[in-house]
Amino acid sequence: MPPAETRRLALPGFVNAHSHAFQRRLRGRAEGGDFWAWREVMLAEAERQTPETVRSEYAKTYAEMRDAGYTVVGEFHYLGVDEAFAAAAAADEAGIELTLLLSAYARGGLPRFRQESSTAYVEQVEQLRGRGVRVGVAPHSVRACPADALRELGAYATENGLPLHVHADEQPREIEECLAEQGLRPIELLAECGCLGPRTTVVHATHADSQELDLIADAGARVCVCPTTEANLGDGFLPVERVLHRGVELCIGSDSNVRIDPLEELRELDGIARRQSGRRDVFAVDDLLAIGSAAGGRALGLESWPEVSIDVGHAQLAGVEDWRSALVAGCSSDVFAR
Ligand SMILES: [Zn+2]
Repeated sequence: MPPAETRRLALPGFVNAHSHAFQRRLRGRAEGGDFWAWREVMLAEAERQTPETVRSEYAKTYAEMRDAGYTVVGEFHYLGVDEAFAAAAAADEAGIELTLLLSAYARGGLPRFRQESSTAYVEQVEQLRGRGVRVGVAPHSVRACPADALRELGAYATENGLPLHVHADEQPREIEECLAEQGLRPIELLAECGCLGPRTTVVHATHADSQELDLIADAGARVCVCPTTEANLGDGFLPVERVLHRGVELCIGSDSNVRIDPLEELRELDGIARRQSGRRDVFAVDDLLAIGSAAGGRALGLESWPEVSIDVGHAQLAGVEDWRSALVAGCSSDVFAR
């Protein structure tokens, strides 16, 4: 048997480009028969959060992420500024890199989600930046941000070279409402309002049509797919081949944190592609690993982040010919050396 140190191999750390850490508490909760009913349960959980609960509970969730091979998290945060600082402190404690994607919320949701104006939102972002928190601009969705707010936020992100993340096309109802209000589908509205560019990450895009996928491709934007959450919430399937055909970059997120395991997110994504195409080779394994790491780094505006170490002596990898392929095809995050 070789010495222990030669049985460990390094990989770039996995990047969790989309998380709502407080939703970890909802795993296993059965109530909420569809996305919109689940959202009511989620809002009640959001309402009970305080800087203290965020500080302590996020530290535990981020430690789970770190153990599972994620070395970076993009926290899409809509609970308030004090809670944002608490999330940053929790990430420090857990030893995970953080980009705080501060959500802009102009209407709907809970009062604590909303800012009075785009100016008030930008002041919050600047407060975080001023104290050394890495940030991104995150208009929550076209539901939460009307066109004028999207225009102001898109301009601010571009002028400051900041990542811009936004939920879009997760559920058909959101698309119907946007069409009724604006005469445009959500991703068309984002493009119209200057929110679609190379620093943009569209979260979900589950029900994006061909025109919307073309807009994402033309802008050089990317899609963050959150397969375990999208399955859990009954959102649907990303049209994987139509996305890849256009050269749109993908990254992954644990989103509701119903599961925390980058290998499972990648396996779900690969499984969707295989089921949709009837083929086993839609993704090369190196492409999947890059989706789990480098693409997420770009989504969060990072150039470098910590590696992870694989225990290639782990029973889950015993006897395999190609440990990289075996990682995604058949391993849990237990194979990462702690
Ligand atoms: Zn989300």
